[in-house]
Amino acid sequence: MNQIPPLDLTEQYKSIGAEVNAAVLEVLASGRYINGPVVSQFEQAFADYIGAATCIACNSGTDALFLALRAFNIGVGDEVITSPFTFIATAEMISAAGATPVFVDIDPQTYNLDLQQIEAAITPKTKAIMPVHLFGHPVDMTELTAIAQTHQLLVIEDCAQAVGAAWNGVRVGNIGQIGCFSFYPTKNLGACGDGGAITVNDAAIADRIRLLRDHGRREGYIHEEVGVNSRLDAVQAAILSIKLRYLDTWNAGRQVVAERYHQLLEHVPGIILPQALPDGQAVWNQYTIRIPASPQGNNRDRVRQHLQQQGIISMIYYPLPLHLQPVYKFLGYQPGQLPVSEQLANEVLSLPMYPELTLEQQERVVYALKDSLS
Ligand SMILES: *Cc1c(COP(=O)(O)O)cnc(C)c1O
Repeated sequence: MNQIPPLDLTEQYKSIGAEVNAAVLEVLASGRYINGPVVSQFEQAFADYIGAATCIACNSGTDALFLALRAFNIGVGDEVITSPFTFIATAEMISAAGATPVFVDIDPQTYNLDLQQIEAAITPKTKAIMPVHLFGHPVDMTELTAIAQTHQLLVIEDCAQAVGAAWNGVRVGNIGQIGCFSFYPTKNLGACGDGGAITVNDAAIADRIRLLRDHGRREGYIHEEVGVNSRLDAVQAAILSIKLRYLDTWNAGRQVVAERYHQLLEHVPGIILPQALPDGQAVWNQYTIRIPASPQGNNRDRVRQHLQQQGIISMIYYPLPLHLQPVYKFLGYQPGQLPVSEQLANEVLSLPMYPELTLEQQERVVYALKDSLS
């Protein structure tokens, strides 16, 4: 029996391989491998896609977050409010910049920051809120922007899982002061390696980020401040320029897959389905269901194992919330302090999700899921 992986990138490569190969060979022959016109063209195309004035490409989504924090001078003594239910990079870069992540619990429906709880976490040290549009679902940016404006806080969007998603028709990454994107291969727009980008409308901040990503220099060997090496390879930019043209089609394909899961799973007892907010346009980086525990114990782990026996590979994003990670022990959070994220860490299961997933494959996933729950 064929395995159904969580994500199959070979299908995508089959569909655009010839185009990608030609573009890569062209870069190889050009002799320009870092920066140059291929990278600038991608930056312009990506800025246009998001609707932002400027895009600055960099080496990863992680670096995008770091550069964004640095550009706004967020560092030692500052606090940044974020979600404990995300990939480590979100909080990790707040720490790397020298600031302190302040974790606010999540909403059980959206898996995103619980906006009702943000104000209680604001202190005189708070400089920014870093919402994460988790699994491709946009945060309610109307409400979040209102909170940020009331308290004069910056909004740094972690859009790593949500390229193309929108809130009330405005693409994420163009709602807060700055948007951070990842082109890690499993993201909706994935490079064939690492890559990232920042979108921003403020020209001075854009300029500062361009400096910071290249050793603090404008050109040559004159360095204005301490920066990093975080440039996007021309090969990756060439690949991303091609893939960007297909992104809306692929995101629409994910939407179809999500709707089919909804239909097939709607009446299955024992699971809770993910829900998109009415004002949000989600892009379904993951289709993540919840399987609550039963008196017999953790159902989710049992179901996951059963699926695996049937050749269906599901994933757990994320098994341990950030406030309880060993690395953040020093912040002093206690188990039970952010109960929703802790509960969801035990309940979430991400089913196979990619645009090319067929109805037949989905039916197999659903059959195995029902079988394990009955
Ligand atoms: C993937 C991801 C990142 C980091 O992106 P990289 O390109 O892997 O460095 C940051 N935040 C979130 C929410 C992510 O999913």
